[in-house]
Amino acid sequence: MYLDNLVGVFGHPVAENPTCVMQDAAFDHLGIRWKYLTIEVLPDDLEAAIRGMRAMNMRGINLTIPHKVAVIPFLDEVAEDAKLIGAVNTVRRDGDRLIGENTDGKGFLRSLREDAGVDPAGAHVVVMGAGGASRAICVELANAGVASIALCNRSAERGEQLAGHLNAHTRARTTFHRWDAPLTIADEVTIVVNATSIGLYPDVDECPLVNLDSIHDGQVVCDVIPNPPDTAFLKQARARGAKTLDGLGMLVYQGAIGFRMWTGQDAPVSVMRSALEKAFA
Ligand code: NDP
Repeated sequence: MYLDNLVGVFGHPVAENPTCVMQDAAFDHLGIRWKYLTIEVLPDDLEAAIRGMRAMNMRGINLTIPHKVAVIPFLDEVAEDAKLIGAVNTVRRDGDRLIGENTDGKGFLRSLREDAGVDPAGAHVVVMGAGGASRAICVELANAGVASIALCNRSAERGEQLAGHLNAHTRARTTFHRWDAPLTIADEVTIVVNATSIGLYPDVDECPLVNLDSIHDGQVVCDVIPNPPDTAFLKQARARGAKTLDGLGMLVYQGAIGFRMWTGQDAPVSVMRSALEKAFA
């Protein structure tokens, strides 16, 4: 079969990566002859793989573990927010040039605005976790004008490093909190984000260490976990009157933003979301 355009993902291990399900569903829905390939690339082969995608005129590529940072030297340009995040999850083509982008935090922000109806400008925010997902979310929240970020992490080194980075390069006032006891959410906080891997399948009963009774209505509680989307943490938050936002929205929108970068067309987000829901079920 001849295809007009190829995109895909490089990772290792990558077999379980769900993105092809939603991107191919979007291509089929719009009736365009594009294909998303899930490609196992070993760390030592990344440079050759990027040369290969250039040679095959692929329109773009996603990067997942362990390539999000390692890919940077092989690109022609990196977008400003991806530079600040320090990682690239999406490569798009501009003519012959390969441009590195990071759509994870943008996907979170779009989900926050469109699904939860919340504008984060001026908000006081709590973010749990200081890994890649947290970094992308914090940078985009800071770019969106939040007033403050209380960053909580189990290991001090990663948390302090990220808080220092955000204070040096963004206007959001970021404080680091060592997270070794149940976290009480301050009253002024309106957005709470679990950006750790706690709650990810199969550990579906796990909940971040939070004093749940400090959650109340007027807050939006968000989780990055896409599978299962309705985590134990979100259920507990909803039971206390908070609005909740699941990680499936972030996953869909980060893909939808990449889809638009590659194809120039608006992505059919509801088609992409139901394709993923089916795959996870
Ligand atoms: P990392 O490995 O980079 O970071 C994991 C973070 O979780 C660290 O801050 C780690 O703390 C913390 N953590 C893990 N287990 C515990 C625990 N038991 N108690 C306290 N803290 C813990 O992972 P990522 O940031 O890349 O990914 C995190 C989650 O985000 C994953 O589940 C991933 O599936 C999800 N994700 C979702 C996306 C989406 O689109 N919905 C996009 C990207 C990621 P420490 O530093 O102390 O180890």
